[in-house]
Amino acid sequence: MVQDYKLFIGGEFKASSTGETFEDLNPATLESLATIQVAGPEDVDRAVEAAEAGFRLWNEVPAAKRAEVLFRAARILQERKEELAVLMTEEMGKVLPETRGDVQEAIDITNYAAGEGRRMLGETTTSELKEKFCMTVLRPIGVVGLITPWNFPIAIPAWKIMPALVAGNAIVFKPASDTPLLAFKLIEVLSEAGLPPGVINLVTGPGGTVGKAVVRHPHIKAISFTGSLDTGKWIMEECSKTMKRVSLELGGKNPVIVMDDADLELALEGVLWGAFGTTGQRCTATSRLILHEKIKDEFIKRLLAKAKALRIGEGLLPETDIGPVINKAQLEKIEKYVKIGKEEGATLLYGGNRIDLGLPGYFFEPTIFTDVRPDMRIAQEEIFGPVLGVFTVSDLEEAITLANSTRYGLSSAIYTENIGNAFRAIEKIEAGITYVNAPTIGAEVHLPFGGVKGTGNGFREAGTEAVKEFSEVKAVYIDYSGRLQKAQIDSAE
Ligand code: NAP
Repeated sequence: MVQDYKLFIGGEFKASSTGETFEDLNPATLESLATIQVAGPEDVDRAVEAAEAGFRLWNEVPAAKRAEVLFRAARILQERKEELAVLMTEEMGKVLPETRGDVQEAIDITNYAAGEGRRMLGETTTSELKEKFCMTVLRPIGVVGLITPWNFPIAIPAWKIMPALVAGNAIVFKPASDTPLLAFKLIEVLSEAGLPPGVINLVTGPGGTVGKAVVRHPHIKAISFTGSLDTGKWIMEECSKTMKRVSLELGGKNPVIVMDDADLELALEGVLWGAFGTTGQRCTATSRLILHEKIKDEFIKRLLAKAKALRIGEGLLPETDIGPVINKAQLEKIEKYVKIGKEEGATLLYGGNRIDLGLPGYFFEPTIFTDVRPDMRIAQEEIFGPVLGVFTVSDLEEAITLANSTRYGLSSAIYTENIGNAFRAIEKIEAGITYVNAPTIGAEVHLPFGGVKGTGNGFREAGTEAVKEFSEVKAVYIDYSGRLQKAQIDSAE
């Protein structure tokens, strides 16, 4: 029987005020996995009130003790890894090795953030005055709102939740409507690990109503959002009205440059994985392939052979390389871009169609366009599906100019055996991440993650930036001279 999941507010499951529900569907079979409640504005208010109470409690717990809850959560995630991975494949569609990786990423960030509990470092420095001491300390922000997408159903929530918790904040969490089940599982894990009631609260339902209510709530002090550029822009504008801090991780149009001196077999494997892994539904997916003209024909011939060999199917089957697309709207969006690409004059080398596997789900062929020009929409706009556009260039400078020609700047890669080419690419590609001789996907949690230009607003997640995203910095001055000393006053002393 399909389980009914209520909202999680103040440590309890509570029915929503709207009485409305929606079904959480398996994108391969369209079977319902769970019935989820649609929160109303009053429910968001209740979640924020519970979080405010949770914050008063949690803020008093020393960071190293907060971290102990996270270490326990990491252990529980580890014990439940396989169960969560299977559930994620059913809910989101990607193949089991990838969903295992998603859960592992959550385990890694949980352990990493827990370690930060004993490393909430401020700075000490000298004063311009005698007998005065200066330092900075990190303070929690308060109640923070976290809004996440569906493509990494547990890793992306964990990237936000764990640093926010160790920094001492309380949370109102709004997961993607395509993957709420994994969000509930994460809540279960944190509760079992001993997180006090109210410190995390989960509200489900459409972004257009529930997400908006979270963004607009005057008692929520910061929003951390991962999702599309359009939603991110709206959130940034809206947050200015209540002077909220807002950190944005948005889309990508990630290029791979393959130079004529590259190890072609290595590059082929990297491009195939980067473009078609997770059915192309990664913010860091390779969507633009920039080939040096000298290796272009050979590379495309070999890429085509490899793409044709990819097996599409249900993510739970061991033989599957590529699972379904997440939902109908996404499938239709991919089809729309295939049509646009053809109309713009690009050559559809391979794919471009839905696949009938005898299942009602959303399967699409890996798709390759050649003869793509930088001004085409398929070269500029994020498709978020298994669609790769191929460009040809005659040197590195042209390749880098092309790589930088979109409004996004998340991930990038160069395949070359020439150290000079590698460093020029690191220096000149406008992106938050550059890989050398590796695909555009595959971030590690101890490095900062985020992008430039339209991909974000300057924040980074994970790595040493993780706790800072969810902390206020306070400057502290301690004057032990016993007399009034005036800084910011021109003094002859
Ligand atoms: P999306 O449509 O922007 O939705 C993301 C989240 O925001 C969902 O929880 C959604 O709720 C919610 N939402 C939608 N409209 C909202 C609004 N007006 N106010 C508040 N919340 C709102 O993006 P998506 O289709 O789920 O995810 C794909 C996008 O995420 C791609 O652009 C991808 O590149 C990006 N992404 C970026 C990163 C990164 O780190 N840079 C990582 C992963 C994905 P519903 O689900 O209910 O609509």
